[in-house]
Amino acid sequence: MADGRAASDETSLEILSATGVARLSAGDLVVMGPPGVGKGTQAKALAQQNGWVQLSTGELFRDHIRRETDLGRRVKTYLDQGLYVPDEVTVEMVRERLRGISPSTRVLFDGFPRTVAQAEALDRLLEELGRRVDAVLLLDAPREELLARLSSRAITEARADDTPEVIAKRLDLYQGETSPVISYYDDRGLVKRVNGVGKVDDVTRRLREAVN
Ligand code: ADP
Repeated sequence: MADGRAASDETSLEILSATGVARLSAGDLVVMGPPGVGKGTQAKALAQQNGWVQLSTGELFRDHIRRETDLGRRVKTYLDQGLYVPDEVTVEMVRERLRGISPSTRVLFDGFPRTVAQAEALDRLLEELGRRVDAVLLLDAPREELLARLSSRAITEARADDTPEVIAKRLDLYQGETSPVISYYDDRGLVKRVNGVGKVDDVTRRLREAVN
């Protein structure tokens, strides 16, 4: 997972408010898109190129499972079955991860928020920390393309949740639970739609252009 803690973010000028608290001029970003669209790959590339911190809830969960932590044991069956981890557990983990990140470093949320309740919780959490969501990058690709990519990833990465039944469940959950999050941000005019079909570098360039 990219973890660009170095304060090399050129776009986030730090300014001092009247209270002397450092604030962000460029807010945080959310990368959204269905399973298999390449969110993780793209979020990692963008974060590395710009010195942002990538905060991927899927990666954090998988890391807890690998390290066999208490949290890892609690979430493993959800991931194995392609189900969403309960909102409270997910939000608490994000809160914990955000704690150590400087207000002047831009965070790229990847795979979070995935439900409207998570989006509302994120707004509250960011407000407490003097942060905000600036833009939501929505990557998309046709369902056939997603299915093809996910089944080839099942072979190359051997992820437990890339079996055909679990893949179908994850795509359905995205439609049912995560699509409303797009409307949530659309109402605030924050969503930028980006075509996720094409070479990895071309998609990264499209995303970079969408941010600027
Ligand atoms: P993908 O987008 O391909 O499903 P992720 O790595 O983002 O891959 O997520 C993998 C799994 O981790 C999800 O299927 C789910 O079980 C869990 N997960 C990740 N993020 C969240 C979240 N924000 N809320 C609930 N569960 C999550």
